[in-house]
Amino acid sequence: MELPYAEPYKIKMVEHIKRSTKEQRLKWIKEANYNLFNLSSDKVFIDLLTDSGTGAMSDQQWAEMMIGDESYAGSSSFKKLKKSVKKITGFKYFLPTHQGRAAENVLFSALVKEGDVVPGNSHFDTTKGHIEFRKATAVDCTIDEAFDTSIIHPFKGNVDLKKLKTVFESHPKEKIPFVIITITCNSAGGQPVSVQNIKEVSTLCKQYEIPLYFDAARFAENAYFIKKREIGYQDKTIKEIVKEVFSYGDGMTISAKKDGLVNMGGFIALNDKEVFKQATVFNIMFEGFITYGGMNGRDMGALAVGLNEATEFNYLESRVEQVAYLGQKLVDYCVPVQKPFGGHAIFLDANKFVPTIPREEYRAQALAIELYIVGGIRGVEIGTVLADRDPFTRKNRFPELELVRLAIPRRTYSYNHMDYVAAALKNVYDTRKEAKSGYVIVDEAPIMRHFTVKFEKL
Ligand SMILES: *Cc1c(COP(=O)(O)O)cnc(C)c1O
Repeated sequence: MELPYAEPYKIKMVEHIKRSTKEQRLKWIKEANYNLFNLSSDKVFIDLLTDSGTGAMSDQQWAEMMIGDESYAGSSSFKKLKKSVKKITGFKYFLPTHQGRAAENVLFSALVKEGDVVPGNSHFDTTKGHIEFRKATAVDCTIDEAFDTSIIHPFKGNVDLKKLKTVFESHPKEKIPFVIITITCNSAGGQPVSVQNIKEVSTLCKQYEIPLYFDAARFAENAYFIKKREIGYQDKTIKEIVKEVFSYGDGMTISAKKDGLVNMGGFIALNDKEVFKQATVFNIMFEGFITYGGMNGRDMGALAVGLNEATEFNYLESRVEQVAYLGQKLVDYCVPVQKPFGGHAIFLDANKFVPTIPREEYRAQALAIELYIVGGIRGVEIGTVLADRDPFTRKNRFPELELVRLAIPRRTYSYNHMDYVAAALKNVYDTRKEAKSGYVIVDEAPIMRHFTVKFEKL
């Protein structure tokens, strides 16, 4: 008999999670103004809001927590992290920050000016926020295949070179501070970018003398997909693939809360000494001295180990295949999900799931709320609410996709939890035709509204 797949780790410590009744959840979600970010975590049974900072650390990482060096300057934990970043990414210079958006804030303070244009593959919301906050424009150059959830394409996060070239041709070089490739492409559904595409973008960037940066939050998961799907990479190690990918760029920002396998942290790594010098000034101003930049010594030690563990094949296989297990269950139940499955999350296609709810009434948000009510499961809307208003016209932007993301925390939930989630979704799916109306916004912030927006049920 062939042995089934089993996780390459065992459990050393457990955290209790609470079940609740449907009646309780109906009351709680109303009190939370129908915003899942407003729910306290004890009111959630399975929390798939995000895979950001929610994973489980290893015993090796916890050991680092105990020996963290909390010196203000020149701590040994900083040195460990610096060494690990150099070894994994290959970039020359490095600045720690307290999380990913802080890295963006520091780097963009040095590079982005009013009127600039920053092309990329579906910029992440904080990335876009930091570009637009500086009165610059983020131009989405993702391939069209990314916007059809039923098309099978191995690298849906790829950059469309024609679109990118059009941006290069229609703006002076000085107006394009850099191109940013997000690996994996979060906003397109955790979809990977191929080495070939990265190489081609890099060549085009060099031709037009425009730097290339990575938003590398899930760089390891991206490398796993390359190994699995791209010809010529089957026999390469994840670490070799990661190194090659980064070799085509000038630098990166990262949220270490994802593939850093830590609960808090981030960094900038790059090759240009001038940019590093400028960024250093902003890092000291916004984050802290350059040998901690908003991180504890112990957290830097844990991140140094996390980067190494996240780029091990056995870990990545257990991580990505668990996500795919949930995806396949949903497909078996006929629930419409984005395909191929993303690396860190499964995305429900709300346009196909609840077309009966008007888009103006936030159908993906309505679906996320229903899943909470039925199963105590917290996902997140990646649709019109997240897309925010156009900064100039203040009108709602309707993105091509209306998704609900179920992000799976790393090394945290079991296969039984995945079965539970799939069963709850099947129940929601079976009653989908009864859903006719959604929600109306009664209060929202001027930028990144999804965190604090308040709704009323229609
Ligand atoms: C999470 C994330 C960020 C922002 O990082 P934070 O640590 O949440 O500030 C930026 N880009 C991508 C692709 C991300 O996934």
